[in-house]
Amino acid sequence: MYDVVVVGGGPIGGYTACQLADQGFEVCLFEEDDEVGKDVICTGVIGTEAFRHFNLPQTAIIRGIKSIIFFSPSFLTFDYTPSDTFAYVVDRGIFDSKILEWAREKGVEVHLGRQVRRIKINENLAEVEIGNEDSSQTVQARVIVLATGIKYQLHKSLGLRGPPAFLQGVQVETEVKDLSCTEIYVGSEVSPGSFAWAVPLDHQRARIGLLTGKRGTFYLNNFLKSRFKGRINEPNPKILQKSIAHGPVQGSVGDRILAVGEAAGQVKTTTGGGIYYGLLCSEIAVEVLKQSLHKGDLSLKQLVKYENLWKSKLGGEFRAGLWARKIMGKLSDQQIDMIFKFVQKKPKVKELMERKVKFDYHSDLISFGLKLLKGFILG
Ligand SMILES: Cc1cc2nc3c(=O)[nH]c(=O)nc-3n(C[C@H](O)[C@H](O)[C@H](O)COP(=O)(O)OP(=O)(O)OC[C@H]3O[C@@H](n4cnc5c(N)ncnc54)[C@H](O)[C@@H]3O)c2cc1C
Repeated sequence: MYDVVVVGGGPIGGYTACQLADQGFEVCLFEEDDEVGKDVICTGVIGTEAFRHFNLPQTAIIRGIKSIIFFSPSFLTFDYTPSDTFAYVVDRGIFDSKILEWAREKGVEVHLGRQVRRIKINENLAEVEIGNEDSSQTVQARVIVLATGIKYQLHKSLGLRGPPAFLQGVQVETEVKDLSCTEIYVGSEVSPGSFAWAVPLDHQRARIGLLTGKRGTFYLNNFLKSRFKGRINEPNPKILQKSIAHGPVQGSVGDRILAVGEAAGQVKTTTGGGIYYGLLCSEIAVEVLKQSLHKGDLSLKQLVKYENLWKSKLGGEFRAGLWARKIMGKLSDQQIDMIFKFVQKKPKVKELMERKVKFDYHSDLISFGLKLLKGFILG
């Protein structure tokens, strides 16, 4: 019997398995795909601080981000250019594989191409059924970690919940002319209440995408035609689409079970970025699991400590992000343009805003923005 079975070999499952094995536990990980990180729909932007803190794989870095230019609906701009590189763009294929390689080196048994189909929780152990109709296998573990990303079928069968809502992420990766730094666009034509991005990679390639509540492909097609006309060589770059959890799940734990990463809705409600929150919560999960495994208590009552800890760390961020999206959704294009004009005219305000920027924590900047907006609207 294993101490822990991890379901899902994405970055969060791999990182969690690696840390648990490092603590001396017997860990087995099942990933349904034959290869990790292949065809992943993700822009791959991760803050440099996260890279340092989690000691993430440097070999996955495609390029550093030093500057962002923000575009209003009528193309007014301002930039954010701190003194140093503040984020990296990664190759998710290399990133995910390297983390799994580290997990293997720590002693995790990694099985690719093996789907977990059912989990049964008994009083003294959990039973995990892996495989398909033709061949299946059952293994036993003391506790299960669900790191299944946006797949919530196993959750439902175990009485765990999925996130309260989803956004759509749509993206193309293609060759683009004259894109030297990351660009962010806002406005009702781009993506109502949300934003679009163009992130340059190497060899003139770029990831261009947007986040929206609905009609992702429609908005991205329009965006590419209007903002990148004549700059993209490929006539119809393939648009890839994926749901993104929007808000934390209500119950991320049960008896002998715990969800982490996007499987627990641990995704920024502002940008849809999930890697940093997932890794952060993975560390919390490992700490609680370590104590619980040593104690021999893997009950819901014990594991709920994990849920309390990650929600107290990130709850304010989730709420601020949800608020910010609501307010952004109510602003007209003219109002957004006015805000851009205001920031352009007031270098002091821009400077104050820049001081509030933290790549992975947005609540300070949001509350500063809200105060400005209130003053702005009230005159
Ligand atoms: C367009 C777009 C852009 C994004 N850009 C960014 C970004 O720039 N920065 C950022 O931080 N985040 C970004 N994200 C979000 C980020 O990709 C996810 O939050 C992140 O991949 C979550 O990691 P995870 O390990 O929790 O889940 P995943 O990476 O989804 O991994 C889950 C794994 O579990 C496996 N699995 C599922 N069910 C089973 C099963 N039953 N049995 C076995 N295996 C199973 C899946 O095959 C998968 O490999 C973006 C998302 C989208 C859609």
